[in-house]
Amino acid sequence: MQRHISYLQKHQYITRSRIGNFLSDSQWNDVNIQPALYDLKVSGEPYIKLEVWSAPGQERPPFKHAVKQKYRPAKAGQDFGPSWTTHWFHIAVDIPKSFEGKPVQFLFDTNSEAMVWSADGEPIVGLTGGGGIERHVDYLLTPCASAHEPTRTFYIEMACNGLFGNGNYTQRPQDREIYYRLSNAEIVAPNKEAWALFHDVEVISEMATRLSQETPRYWQALKAANSIVNVFEHSDSSTIAPAREIAREFFKAQGGDSNHQVYAIGNCHIDTAWLWPFAETKRKAARSWSTQLNLMEDYPEYRFAASQAQQFEWLKENYPTLFKRIQDKAKSGQFIPIGGTWVEMDCNIPSGESLARQFLLGQRFFKQHFGEICDVFWLPDTFGYSSQLPQIVRLSGAKYFFTQKLSWNNINKFPNTTFRWVGLDGSHVLTHMTPAETYGAQCRPGELIDSVKRHKDIAYSNESLYLFGNGDGGGGPLRAMLERLRRMENVDGLPKVHQAHPREFYKHVEETANELVSWKGELYFELHRGTYTSQSNNKRWNRQSEFLLRDTELLCTVACTGSSDDNEYNYPFEELTRLWKLVCLNQFHDVVPGSSINMVYRDSDKIYSDIFGSVEKLRQGALEHIYGNHFIPSKPNLASELAVVNTTEWMRSSIVAVPDSISGRFKQQSGSGTVQVRDNDGAVLALAANVAGFSSQMVDLERNANDKFIVEHPLSIVQNSDGCFELENRFVRVTVNQTGQIVSYYDIEESRELVPKGETANFFELYDDVPVYWDAWDIEIYNLEKFKSLDGAQVAISDQGPLVASLSVRLPISDQSVLNQTISLSAISPRLDFDCNVDWHENRKCLKVSFTWDIYSDVATYETQYGVVQRPTHRNTSWDMAKFEVCAHKFADLSEFGYGVALLNDCKYGHSTLENTMTLTLLRSPKSPDEYCDMGKHEFRYALYPHKGCFNESNVVQEAYHFNVPLLKLPTASQSSVNLADAAHSQYIRPGNHSPFFSLSGARNVVLDTVKMAEDDKRSFIVRMYEAYGGHACALLSTKLPAYGLEKVNILEEPMESDDGDDLNWLPYSKATKIRFKPFEVVSLKFSF
Ligand SMILES: [Zn+2]
Repeated sequence: MQRHISYLQKHQYITRSRIGNFLSDSQWNDVNIQPALYDLKVSGEPYIKLEVWSAPGQERPPFKHAVKQKYRPAKAGQDFGPSWTTHWFHIAVDIPKSFEGKPVQFLFDTNSEAMVWSADGEPIVGLTGGGGIERHVDYLLTPCASAHEPTRTFYIEMACNGLFGNGNYTQRPQDREIYYRLSNAEIVAPNKEAWALFHDVEVISEMATRLSQETPRYWQALKAANSIVNVFEHSDSSTIAPAREIAREFFKAQGGDSNHQVYAIGNCHIDTAWLWPFAETKRKAARSWSTQLNLMEDYPEYRFAASQAQQFEWLKENYPTLFKRIQDKAKSGQFIPIGGTWVEMDCNIPSGESLARQFLLGQRFFKQHFGEICDVFWLPDTFGYSSQLPQIVRLSGAKYFFTQKLSWNNINKFPNTTFRWVGLDGSHVLTHMTPAETYGAQCRPGELIDSVKRHKDIAYSNESLYLFGNGDGGGGPLRAMLERLRRMENVDGLPKVHQAHPREFYKHVEETANELVSWKGELYFELHRGTYTSQSNNKRWNRQSEFLLRDTELLCTVACTGSSDDNEYNYPFEELTRLWKLVCLNQFHDVVPGSSINMVYRDSDKIYSDIFGSVEKLRQGALEHIYGNHFIPSKPNLASELAVVNTTEWMRSSIVAVPDSISGRFKQQSGSGTVQVRDNDGAVLALAANVAGFSSQMVDLERNANDKFIVEHPLSIVQNSDGCFELENRFVRVTVNQTGQIVSYYDIEESRELVPKGETANFFELYDDVPVYWDAWDIEIYNLEKFKSLDGAQVAISDQGPLVASLSVRLPISDQSVLNQTISLSAISPRLDFDCNVDWHENRKCLKVSFTWDIYSDVATYETQYGVVQRPTHRNTSWDMAKFEVCAHKFADLSEFGYGVALLNDCKYGHSTLENTMTLTLLRSPKSPDEYCDMGKHEFRYALYPHKGCFNESNVVQEAYHFNVPLLKLPTASQSSVNLADAAHSQYIRPGNHSPFFSLSGARNVVLDTVKMAEDDKRSFIVRMYEAYGGHACALLSTKLPAYGLEKVNILEEPMESDDGDDLNWLPYSKATKIRFKPFEVVSLKFSF
């Protein structure tokens, strides 16, 4: 009878430690499984000959250039650096005869990222050195060495950065002086069976840790792993087979029919820039993806998904053969392009049109290069998801959505896993948030157990997606992960796992789960609220780029549609596409949010300066084409008049600064009441009155001078006996105290005071801004408890009308920082403008400005992409409280019955409204990952716009547009008043004709946002509109542009079913159509001409 010697049920914890030690590569590694993993190892000469060439500075030269250089001898143990440098190794390997019949690997550990290249310039495999979980440093030289192996030569490109850049990113800025040691260069023969046993024990031992002790499988796993340790002897390879037999017996037991099904998909989340610049991302994608292609050869079941068309486009340009291999693997179904967007963008800051362009550019790329568009919108790692995304996703040909970021919420746990996400307009997408709560899973049993435990909708859908592979910096899945996955495919105690295209998962859910719950509205991310503000200049450039491109595409389309044979204009399609790609690139989810290193912002500054310069040229070209000699004189010095172009749909009046070149004639009229010469800088201001939407007009001084409006209600500014300043026009009287705060904002027509007694508006506060962990990312709620009021301002009158009255405010923020502000009231509007100029040198401080109103409402309204969202003004529940800082675009509005005030801005996004106080977050000063974040000069504008009626009855949307889209100014010699459309489309200019090139009537809640030429169709243009307030609408759209027919299209500009029935009917004589809108609906029309 066999003696019973194992009592492991009485010392299970000790046994688990024993099993852990069996695998350890640090302790006991001379007596556990480690010595058995390699049969042979050799290093150094004569087997390995190393030479190196170091590229100058931070250059990243291509292979062709690198191989022509002069190489010097090198050896393991040497250090290479500093940070961000590149070193190319030329390597000659002679495999010794003793390796005959064995697989042979070359191990090369630079402790950094590296890429193996063949001698003829093919990228072969990426390497990630160091001791982390991402480590993979092996390159397979041959699966079976022969007796007489030839000398093998190849190259390795070493990048002096790790997967996460250089240094400890979350606590301090990047380290510029890191040197990386080539710690290992050797030839090895791995013992395949020993490795297989290693992976067996990895899986079984973790099951013995993570399974419940109340299940038989826990005990079976513990016993099996313990038995393996008993059987195995490191110095006797014949013990591997019986040890593996124990494992095989254990894995034989399969799960039942009701088991949870996991759909596994390999991925490597490669941030398009973050702790490294864009240039490094190009190499990261090549390294990561070449590694995956190799794994696909060895593991036919392996499926790998990669997103971001931009990274594929870079690969296509820089690594064409690798791109071709990926295309082939995409055809066979192993490599899965996914996501549908240009980059994995931020979804808080970009405009509606930007989000649409992310899809238009992305889907077109995927269709062109991989034969189909993506039906899964893939965004594992963005800091909140706009309520308009479901509609935009559906209009872009996708219908499924994947993310996991909300698992990071720091206040409330998001309650769903698989659900219908219903957007602002009622569109919905089938959404899944992986219950493993990571996109970088390691293929370990515990993660699969969590996939069941944390699944919140398992009652309706007993399946989940599981994303494995090393992410953030890239790298991707490792061979060991695929080995473990194979062992876990169908084993009792764990859910079943099957590698699949994510589409398979969604389709199956669609077919089987018909009772899924819904989540309506935004997926607010309860963390990273500082990303609405950090790197504020970057956000400003983004806003400006969006509007510049909007104006320019509109004008280019007008120029193009009016082009005739003798007056030809070529729409700059390629250049506009290039510029949109750049705008979209900078909207990557670590760039525009402000969470990247300094290098990235220096790159993005350059990109924006390219955008501004190039767009300006295109816009000027379009204007010149449209107006020819009528407006723009060939000799600029002949100009003496000013014409303005209104690129918005609404009639507007505006005070414009007259360009210096023509200010002379205007100055002569300075007594007329419609021209003003500013005291401080001599700038000449003039009134451009009643400029029709989508139209142009001369600035007519004579007519304005007789304007009753101006004559009867002169603007005034005085300092009272109590020292306060009073600015008054026909609409409002604003009182500003001696510290620049508004103590009274009085609506004259309504006889209504907006500032409660004892309260103020335009009140500056400097808050502590020390988050729990993520510096540039987070504003924390506790910082709202600790602040200093800034009230040491000096105020003086700087403009006294007749068009603009203003105060200049100088507010010291600290010994290092100062804010200069101009507060202006014009003669023509109740709107009060604030132009700010800040010199900012703080450390973990946050500048906010607040406005307290005598207005009471449970909700405030904030602009989002193509619409608005309402959020509570109280903190009743933890869900309300978690939204203590929210993202808004051009405005936030606080309205009650009958009246409201909107806070407009030209580049800020961080807002909050608590009770009756609205706050705008202006600047932050985090030090990591960019130590220089936001240091220095800033310019920004905001404005207050009081209005009769609640938000829905107001024209806040239009006013916010006007605040962001100035009238375009054209110095001209002509006195004619010329319509822009007529100028483009008629040989005869008809002065005084103001018919616009587009007009929308019958629905003040509809915004005409975008006009562009159609993709792939030179005889069509696109008009995109949206319903902005949340109601139905029936608008009549007419145009002066040539148009013979129209159809409703989606964002990809493909025809779509229209619910409008006969309404969407082009009336060729009136050149008009009726269009019906549902609340917040985005409608794109394609006109052919
Ligand atoms: Zn990311």
